[in-house]
Amino acid sequence: MTLSPIAVIGAGMAGLSCAQTLAQAGLSVHLLDKSRGPSGRMSTRRAEDPQGAWQCDHGAPFFTATDLSFREEVMRWEQCGAAASWLVRIARHDGQRLVAMDTSTQRFVGTGRMTAPAALLVRELAALPGQPVHMHLQTTVQGMQAGEAGWTLQSAEHGRSAVGYRAVLVAIPAPQAHALLAASMPQAAQLASSARMDACWTVMLRSDHPVQWPCDGAIIEQGPLRWVARDSSKPGRTGPETWIVHASAQWSADHLEDDAASVTAQLLQAFADMGGPAPGSLRATAHRWRYANAAPGLGIDCWWDASHAVGMCGDWLHDGGVQGAWLSGRALARRALQTLAA
Ligand SMILES: Cc1cc2nc3c(=O)[nH]c(=O)nc-3n(C[C@H](O)[C@H](O)[C@H](O)COP(=O)(O)OP(=O)(O)OC[C@H]3O[C@@H](n4cnc5c(N)ncnc54)[C@H](O)[C@@H]3O)c2cc1C
Repeated sequence: MTLSPIAVIGAGMAGLSCAQTLAQAGLSVHLLDKSRGPSGRMSTRRAEDPQGAWQCDHGAPFFTATDLSFREEVMRWEQCGAAASWLVRIARHDGQRLVAMDTSTQRFVGTGRMTAPAALLVRELAALPGQPVHMHLQTTVQGMQAGEAGWTLQSAEHGRSAVGYRAVLVAIPAPQAHALLAASMPQAAQLASSARMDACWTVMLRSDHPVQWPCDGAIIEQGPLRWVARDSSKPGRTGPETWIVHASAQWSADHLEDDAASVTAQLLQAFADMGGPAPGSLRATAHRWRYANAAPGLGIDCWWDASHAVGMCGDWLHDGGVQGAWLSGRALARRALQTLAA
């Protein structure tokens, strides 16, 4: 008898690591995401100005790998050419001046762009022998319903799924998980509503000339900014010099509904006040993340309900960040396998 597939909703790092673990155990997986490509918040904006093409990582700027198993996976990505260490000249700004920081922490990025590890995982999932993972992009799942043939999913683009799924694993940010699960799995939705996620306004900058600033990345301890970096200093980047500016969680929350032009003007002025370039000398594009970072994460790895065959994973269930997302996705797949592979 052919078993029905498992749905993993969300193709960020949590959903990808979940799908990877399930597929390696021989289970059939459908991976659904609302976006045009995988990778979620490990994202890169690629666009064209009248001056030419440019790109900038406007989600996670880098990630660390302190967990041994995640470190091994990152080393594998490095060997496949999908990730590399970013030997960033880093400093902190204490409100008065820049102070050089110890660079012993190893910071990783996707090679060429931040989406490279996700692209590698998708290629590997598609090439698995037997039951490759099927990707369904531009599929925004809005509801799910239990029936005799398993769970059916309702998406904005395709209506009700023709397939009945034997399990549904939700790998999306907490507020979106809450909205998706409120009607069908209120207990799960309640847990999702207990997680806090901070917003982040980001501004991507392009310059035709090298920007004079004494470091390539800086943690900002006071004022509206939290992080400023020369994105084009990461390994494998080509094209014009690009910079990224992140507002602090508090400033982003206070200005969440402001228009992009006013946010851009204020954040560029804050950068200039720290010795950065004059605001008018750069081309800028702002992006608002409503749910950027888990603050700090529920610390429970993942959530699984064997009786309904529904689970949740993501950075917000673990301890935040790319590493937390990867570990959470793998933890959920392992929990689900105990039931589904039995
Ligand atoms: C500005 C910013 C700065 C950051 N800084 C760092 C950092 O320095 N270090 C670090 O480690 N991490 C950082 N992060 C966090 C890091 O990016 C995340 O922790 C990690 O990428 C989360 O992965 P995830 O799979 O849990 O969620 P996501 O990456 O959000 O993936 C969820 C996926 O689900 C999809 N989705 C959502 N709703 C639906 C739906 N209804 N139907 C179908 N698909 C849906 C989305 O399109 C997305 O692809 C930062 C993030 C941002 C935005």
